[in-house]
Amino acid sequence: MTKIIAANWKQNGSLKLLIKLTRDIRTGINRLKKRPKVILFPPSIYLDSISKEIKKNKANNKNIQLGIQNISPYNNGAYTGEVSIDMTNDFGCSYMLIGHSERRHIFMESEKFISNKISIAFQKNKKVILCVGETLKDYRSKNTKQVITKQINSALKESLQLIKKNKKNLVIAYEPVWAIGTGRSANIRDIETTHTLIRKLLFKLINDAKSEIKILYGGSVSPQNAKEILDAEDCLLIMGSSNGHLGKLDNDRHY
Ligand code: PEP
Repeated sequence: MTKIIAANWKQNGSLKLLIKLTRDIRTGINRLKKRPKVILFPPSIYLDSISKEIKKNKANNKNIQLGIQNISPYNNGAYTGEVSIDMTNDFGCSYMLIGHSERRHIFMESEKFISNKISIAFQKNKKVILCVGETLKDYRSKNTKQVITKQINSALKESLQLIKKNKKNLVIAYEPVWAIGTGRSANIRDIETTHTLIRKLLFKLINDAKSEIKILYGGSVSPQNAKEILDAEDCLLIMGSSNGHLGKLDNDRHY
């Protein structure tokens, strides 16, 4: 199975730094015998430049894909500051990150808002990475199962028919909020338990009997723990920018 490694660069870096990083990633992938699929999520203002940088190496094009960190739930119109899905087509942007915990907790995105984004993305035939994850308080009170179940059900319920027709366009990223940017990754047992729960939910909701929907893990993945997590069954990765190369750790966040 081809592994997916997604890089969410958040609001970090500069044009110069991110171009260099893209180039280094391309060179790194070229050296590998078994190449993963890498999805880059730069800040949207840099999509054009990163898209051009990716295209410079035609042989490797399929291994590196481009995604947007946030999309508008509306078609083009009077929505100041937003970027529509149609606009992302100009940059060959195939993946949309939806429901990231920073969008949920800092920008107060509601479950309804997230579900609207999923609907429009599926209507427009885009690939979606839906992020779900519990806060530290929920983790400590053993509420992970309830939180994840609610997040998945409410995000997908409006789009079940569309998703059923195009299961491969959905990826779920389990990203415990307490692990994001803290340097404290979830342990393999917890990751596997939650991934199994997500599998069951997907089976129930959209009859994903063949496990066509990939499930990722994200939260303080680092060069030290990446291999162990990647080796875990059904486990692919999402790496944020807090692991040193783009930004400092956000240890002071408490959701
Ligand atoms: C993320 O925010 O998607 C993420 C995985 O964060 P980090 O790797 O920085 O913990």
